[in-house]
Amino acid sequence: MSGVSTRRILLLAGLIVALAAAFLTERAHAQDKPLNKVNAVATTSIIADFVRNVGGDRVAVATLVGPDGDAHVYSPTPGDARTIASAAIVFVNGLGLEGWMTRLVKASGTRAPVVVVSNGVTPRKMQDEDRPGRMAADPHAWQSVANAKIYVANIRDGLSAVDPAGKAAYGANAAGYLAKLDELEKQIAEAIGGIPAGRRRIITTHDAFGYFGDAYGMSFIAPEGVSTEAEPSAKDVAAIIAQIRREKSPAVFLESITDPRLMQTIAGETGARIGGTLYSDALSAPDGPAATYIEMMRHNLRELTKALSG
Ligand SMILES: [Zn+2]
Repeated sequence: MSGVSTRRILLLAGLIVALAAAFLTERAHAQDKPLNKVNAVATTSIIADFVRNVGGDRVAVATLVGPDGDAHVYSPTPGDARTIASAAIVFVNGLGLEGWMTRLVKASGTRAPVVVVSNGVTPRKMQDEDRPGRMAADPHAWQSVANAKIYVANIRDGLSAVDPAGKAAYGANAAGYLAKLDELEKQIAEAIGGIPAGRRRIITTHDAFGYFGDAYGMSFIAPEGVSTEAEPSAKDVAAIIAQIRREKSPAVFLESITDPRLMQTIAGETGARIGGTLYSDALSAPDGPAATYIEMMRHNLRELTKALSG
């Protein structure tokens, strides 16, 4: 072999090695990035948790109102419009929860289907906060596990429509999750059912537990004339004390009151037990006590039974 042809062979071999390396790197990159995941957007952390459970590894979920956020008064960002613009499907609660959403969807220019996950729920009525004296639909339907199951079925059907190849996977994921919700529902009904009917009365600053109360036989009473945003005045506290006595409520959850002395006064004057924090509209941060819907419902159940047990 002449020197020239050896060099040629070496060059050729080098080229082949380089091409093979480039090809393998390309393939490695393709595997790094999620293969055609369905981009889903959920307005709240609770809905996002349902979508994650049904979507499994086929779906990437973006949440607009994150943990501990308030979907009633949310101000969308330009980033939210971009998130929706790149979505294959959008999940909203409906029942008037996300008043800001119609405009945001329009501004995003998306053509993705917008699925109202509460479709099929029988809405209960509540006082309209924006128009005193008028009634409006109560949006907090997920507080009844039976309604959460309707949400999950709507999410399963929505994902199957935009990603027909995943229909079987979504069906299996939903069935597994629905079985867990069955368990949860049984646990709540049994625990609340174990509390004497006359003691199932809670005063709470959150007006978000109407569906829970209807489903499991419990009354939640909001303190009258007390703003949930500001620390109550001495007069407010006197009114709360009078109301606890009148309603004979054995427990109060007053999350807007952060002053422990006020809490002690209320407890001392009425004998009512002071509960901790109930999660209503949003999950906690991942390291908190309500990182998923199921954990949230179990946490609330623990707090309620602790406050109401004799
Ligand atoms: Zn709410």
